[in-house]
Amino acid sequence: MSAFEAVIGLEVHAQLKTESKLFCACSTHFGEKPNTNTCPVCTGMPGALPVINKKAVEFAAKMALAMQCRINTRSVFARKNYFYPDLPKGYQISQYEAPLAENGCVSIVSGGSFREIRIIRIHMEDDAGKSIHSRHENLSYVDLNRTGVPLIEIVSGPDLRSAEEAVTYLKQLRSILMYLGICEGNMEEGNFRCDANVSLRPLGRERLGVRTELKNMNSFRHVHKALEYEIQRQEDLLSDSEPVIQETLLFDEDSGTTRSMRGKEEAHDYRYFPDPDLVPMELSREAIAGWTAELPELPPAKMLRFQEAYGLPEYDAGLLTAERDLADYFEATVALGPPPKVVSNWIMTDLLREIREKDLVLSRCAFTPERFASLLKLIDSGKISSKTGKQIFPELLLQDLDPGTYVQEKGYVQISDDSELTRILEEVLEENPKELAAYKAGKKKLLSFFMGQVMKKTKGQANPKLVNEKLQELLK
Ligand code: ADP
Ligand code: MG
Ligand code: ZN
Repeated sequence: MSAFEAVIGLEVHAQLKTESKLFCACSTHFGEKPNTNTCPVCTGMPGALPVINKKAVEFAAKMALAMQCRINTRSVFARKNYFYPDLPKGYQISQYEAPLAENGCVSIVSGGSFREIRIIRIHMEDDAGKSIHSRHENLSYVDLNRTGVPLIEIVSGPDLRSAEEAVTYLKQLRSILMYLGICEGNMEEGNFRCDANVSLRPLGRERLGVRTELKNMNSFRHVHKALEYEIQRQEDLLSDSEPVIQETLLFDEDSGTTRSMRGKEEAHDYRYFPDPDLVPMELSREAIAGWTAELPELPPAKMLRFQEAYGLPEYDAGLLTAERDLADYFEATVALGPPPKVVSNWIMTDLLREIREKDLVLSRCAFTPERFASLLKLIDSGKISSKTGKQIFPELLLQDLDPGTYVQEKGYVQISDDSELTRILEEVLEENPKELAAYKAGKKKLLSFFMGQVMKKTKGQANPKLVNEKLQELLK
């Protein structure tokens, strides 16, 4: 048992999925030729004036509302000054003293119980460009296509207590952003990023310890690894009565360790001041009420509803509602008749496994809820065995096939016909007189032998439940 408690606060940057940039009409489209999605505004030409993107404000406000934040009806854009080659303006347009939203919270399920994580603030800002160092040994390249793309920064309270909790919280944020349809949520591509602040304190103490800030983690796994490493590093220091130095650390994915990047900057280093080119942003009560009304049912509420309406365990409900597409798919299938728990089991095992292994997007598969329900019906009615169902599932998911037609054509339909089964069973008994005699003499174990013979004769297509019943009857 450690004598210390880890304290973690996350700063998450989410790129908003708007068509155009935050302060100009340039396209945000990813993967274009470098420096083609640019204009005088986003390249910081003198005299060019920024104009706020309404859609970006709506998206940001929706996230703030989903996080139960108080929205400031008047917020101010500020210049955050620093120099970097991919920041042609010489400053980032962000929000400082009056951010878009403050004082929210989000609940996560951690270790089986609900935990409330405070959201200190959510503000809007524009993204910097991209420096590319890997193409050439002695040269760096700058691509300004990303410069000016809208971001929101979501700052949590120092309320997370472990690497697991931090990852759970991150996944929850990502899930909500994707439910709202406002962010691609892809950490590898960098449209959902996070910096992690970590400190340790002796158990039972209120005052926070000295923190470090971790950067450069581009997957959930990296976040977990970096935090585990950093918590251990600080614990080793403190146990030896060595101080933790406040600094910014870079996670190195190859070694799984963190290394110092720079001393931690303070807010005053950035010389924040209100951007003179942008008037304060005023949001009307009506606009906020309108956005509130447009919010979809969000994961925590959907999860509770899935437990209550479908009688699903918490685990199933959590998994099924993590992604909106999957939750909709589940509901559409259940609406066609099959029992919810059966659908849930198939999704959690076969469906998710195939989707992950083959990197599929469910909404693009021809395997619609109708086809899914029809497969489950084929099994439930005994037309095919559940073993066959599992076998053909990957095929059905990948190809444009109607389950009913497919099993018919492939000869997968089980023999459930009474007279046909009786005929086959009688044949089997006739062909094995020795075993039949032995069985009658008391060797009851031979039942499985007959069963095997029937399956062999029918190439596995006899309905096993019916065969069993019939055999018992004939052997009486
Ligand atoms: P900065 O100005 O460096 O961005 P903030 O006060 O905005 O610092 O906090 C940034 C993040 O760091 C927040 O998520 C906050 O919860 C977290 N944080 C602040 N102090 C600590 C600490 N001592 N230990 C862990 N996390 C902290
Ligand atoms: Mg900060
Ligand atoms: Zn532009």
